[in-house]
Amino acid sequence: MEEALLRIQDLHTTFYTRDGLVRAVDGVTIAINAGESVGIVGESGCGKSMTAMSVMGLLKKPGKVDGGKIFFDGRELTAMPPGEKRRLMGNKISMIFQEPMTSLNPVITVGKQVREALLLHNRHMSRAQAKERALQAFELVGIPDAKKRYGEYPHQLSGGLRQRVMIAMAMVCGPGLLIADEPTTALDVTIEAQILHLMKDLQEEKGTAVMMITHNLGVVAQFCHRLYVMYAGKVMESGTVKEIFADVGHPYTEGLMRSVPDMESKERLYNIRGMVPSMLHLPKGCRFCPRCQYSMARCFEEEPEMYEASPGHFVRCFLYEQGKGEEMP
Ligand code: SF4
Repeated sequence: MEEALLRIQDLHTTFYTRDGLVRAVDGVTIAINAGESVGIVGESGCGKSMTAMSVMGLLKKPGKVDGGKIFFDGRELTAMPPGEKRRLMGNKISMIFQEPMTSLNPVITVGKQVREALLLHNRHMSRAQAKERALQAFELVGIPDAKKRYGEYPHQLSGGLRQRVMIAMAMVCGPGLLIADEPTTALDVTIEAQILHLMKDLQEEKGTAVMMITHNLGVVAQFCHRLYVMYAGKVMESGTVKEIFADVGHPYTEGLMRSVPDMESKERLYNIRGMVPSMLHLPKGCRFCPRCQYSMARCFEEEPEMYEASPGHFVRCFLYEQGKGEEMP
């Protein structure tokens, strides 16, 4: 079997707080192949952004990766010296965030910020060459009047244009993997559609793998090949988007799908009952049991494993125990 471009194996990321241990990522295994777009979906606090931050090495104290391994292109990131890892980040792996205003430096022009990202990873490139490449990147992501925009500050651009600058900066070094953390959540729907379209075109043209972190199943349906659904620090379901949308497995994923507004329906919009549990006080047994409409006595005592519902489709739920899989993809 071909080695995945990014392989996260049994990752554990813990926050050591005064109130106790918060296991934000609790044994997560995810694989992303070269050129593939993979969605990581779940409600706020489910661990999807912490998984990405662990890959990028952007965790802040008191959080740390305290178990598992992360491989990128066959090299173990979790065992890499910090200097080597820094050279990889922003170059071979880059990330775009939800709110570009907080990621861009407000006192440096956007063009200079993209140029500096290039110079940081390309020591032999001259400033003039870097500027030329930055302008090409601006044009590639559809920034109109690129030369004028190059000399402007982030506050002079609209939200959509700022996100285009972030995408230009993330793509300018030709990364193998782009991690997009809710890249369209802060944008209105028309701009969201444009940005998703742009990312899809770039992904197909450049063959970049994308980890798309989102709470929006509509974004996943448009953009991704495969999908991991996370809940309370664990992967609850994984498989192809086609398979999961056609035959949803986990009761939590089912709840998420039923919560998507349907303009045709006259029924009251469904919402998953109860609240996401506190990560300091997780329920015993299955983490979803207090909210699950199918829970059985056993669910309140034991934690389910990942079971193979159908080839390549894994579900962490006792309802699928019959078709137990050997290993997660
Ligand atoms: Fe629901 Fe039980 Fe399945 Fe958990 S294991 S999702 S509580 S049926």
